[in-house]
This record gives sequence, structure tokens and C-alpha cells, in this order.
Amino acid sequence: MKDKQSQSHWQPATKLVHGGRLTSEFGETSEALFLNSSYSYETAVLMCQLKSGDHVVASKTLFSSCQYIITQVLPRFGITYTLVECGNNEAWKKAITAQTKCVFIETPANPTLELVDIAEVAKICKSVGAQLIVDNVFSAPLTQRPLELGADVVMYSTTKHIDGQGRTLGGALLGKKAFIEDILRQFCRHTGPHMSHFNAWLILKSLETLELRLARHNENAAKVAEALAGHAKVSRLIYPGHASHPQYALAQKQMSHGGPMLAFEIVGGREAAFRFMNALEIFDISNNLGNAKSIVTHPASTTHYALGAEGLARAGITQSLVRVSAGIEDGGDLVKDVIRALDKA
Ligand SMILES: *Cc1c(COP(=O)(O)O)cnc(C)c1O
Repeated sequence: MKDKQSQSHWQPATKLVHGGRLTSEFGETSEALFLNSSYSYETAVLMCQLKSGDHVVASKTLFSSCQYIITQVLPRFGITYTLVECGNNEAWKKAITAQTKCVFIETPANPTLELVDIAEVAKICKSVGAQLIVDNVFSAPLTQRPLELGADVVMYSTTKHIDGQGRTLGGALLGKKAFIEDILRQFCRHTGPHMSHFNAWLILKSLETLELRLARHNENAAKVAEALAGHAKVSRLIYPGHASHPQYALAQKQMSHGGPMLAFEIVGGREAAFRFMNALEIFDISNNLGNAKSIVTHPASTTHYALGAEGLARAGITQSLVRVSAGIEDGGDLVKDVIRALDKA
């Protein structure tokens, strides 16, 4: 097998197409597929390194499975946790102590798109020797690069924008060689969280078009956000790339774009939200995100339903909230669809 050399000076778009490519003696232009069987398992990044007595600090607003692992699974192994409000740097400083082994953040958060100041939290982590793990699913790759801001590990659900066409379930962890090889790989080797080879192959192919697709996802999200801003049926727009976002300055600092995800609150509560979603012609109604097809979600009744009324209130998820994952269709068509559906809501 022949490995491509001298990739370090390549820009991300070139690395995504050619990086780390292995070619066999047959000179295939697409990675060869060796069929075997294996199974997948999630959030190895915490399980591989924590032990009884350790302390974890995490954002209050987290994807529900991550929240479940931190608040329900880890405590069974004697690992304590503290949850912190995303945008409150003072609270992060207070919560992260000498006992803290890992800090887990999601920014922008799903589905409320609150931000955590990655560089600031990274600085606090460094001062006590804690590891900073960033769930970067909502910004998607390239738009936000946490490792450059001081994070130790970046986590992706490849199910989302990386696959980009809703074909596979998978995850990816990025970090320093010592962590990936000595800690994570050892854990994975002995416990089995491996993606099937066919899915890994599909995801590798997806990387080649990632930059192009994300540019369109981002552009479409910004167009839809602009159309929603100031609309009479929209009581609140939530988009990191729009000046109305309470942490707009931070978004400008740590993201190169507003990202592919947005949310908004509709006038008229849950009924209006349902009428709006049902009136859409192009957008699919689904709990998924990061697909070529645009998707709308009602988090309070689906993805975040399990939080219960109290949990929803704590996370700031109202019945009026609609989450939007902008696809790669024509942006003008998406805007027309949204405006028409708002009129019917
Ligand atoms: C979907 C999602 C995950 C988990 O991804 P799966 O592929 O469904 O396991 C984690 N974090 C965020 C922010 C997500 O949206």
C-alpha cells in the first residue's frame, strides 16, 4: 500500500479528498473495501478514560444521549458531574476544579443553539489539567475548528453532515495521537465500538464532497434565517450567524459562518408549529439533521421529549420551538417554502 506524503501544507478541502488515502497494488481510485463484520457503540471518549472518583463538567444543554450518559450512566461507576450554563464563563471557572478529569461541551447546543466560549473553557481546563471534549455536530466540521481553539478532543456524529445523505449511523473522535492511540484505541479494541467497514467506506467517500456540501448547507441556513428574521409569525429567531443571537460576538470569534442549523419560535405555540411543519412541501419532518434534504423538527415532542416538562423548561425548549436543518436544495426554493408555510400556520 502506498500512502500519500506531504499533506501537511494542504488546505482542508484538499485533505478531505486526498488525506490519508491508502491505495493497494491495484491502483484503485476509491478506497478498497474489505468486508468483515463489527458493531458500533457510542461515547467511548468518556468511558475510555474515566474511573471511579473522577469528576466531569458538562454543558446544561446537551444532546439527549450525551446527557443520559453523563447524568445516568457515569454516576453508576462513581463518576460525579456538574452541569453548567453554556454562556456563563464565571460558572465554568467555578465548576472546573482540580478533581475534574473531563469537560464535555456542545456548541452550538442542540436545539437552542446556545454557545460555549471554547477558547475560554479550554484555558480553564489547561489550568487544572482537565481534558476538553467538544461535540461539534451542530456547527459541523470546517465551520468551527475546536482543536485550534484549544480543545483536546472533537466529537462528531458522522450520521449528520459528514455522511450528509442519511445513509449510515456512525461517530468520529479527533484528538492528539497519544490520546487516540494509547487510550481510545486500547479501549475500543477490547470493548468493540467499531463501525462496519461498508459504513466507514461510505463516510470516507462523503468526506470528498464535505466542503462543497457544507458551503451550501451554511448558505441556505443563512438565507432561511434572514427570511425568518422580523417575520410577523416568528417571535424569536435563533441563529448564531444573525446579529440578533445573544452571543453573536462569540459566534463571530469562534465560527467562520453561522452554521447549517437554526431554530425559531413561532407565534401560536405547539399547534402553530405543527401547522407550519405540515404545510411545508420541501422540508421533511424528522428527528434527524445534517441531510442533503432540509429537515424540520419539533424538539419538545420528539428529540427532547424524554426531558419532561421540567427538563424542557430548564433547557429552554418551548412548545413553539422549531429546529431547522438546512439542506442543499436551492436556497430560494427553501425560503419560499418557509414563507408559504408560515402564512398557513
Ligand atoms: C445526533 C447528535 C449526536 C449523536 O449522534 P448519533 O449518530 O445519533 O449517535 C450527538 N450530538 C449531537 C449534537 C447530535 O445532534
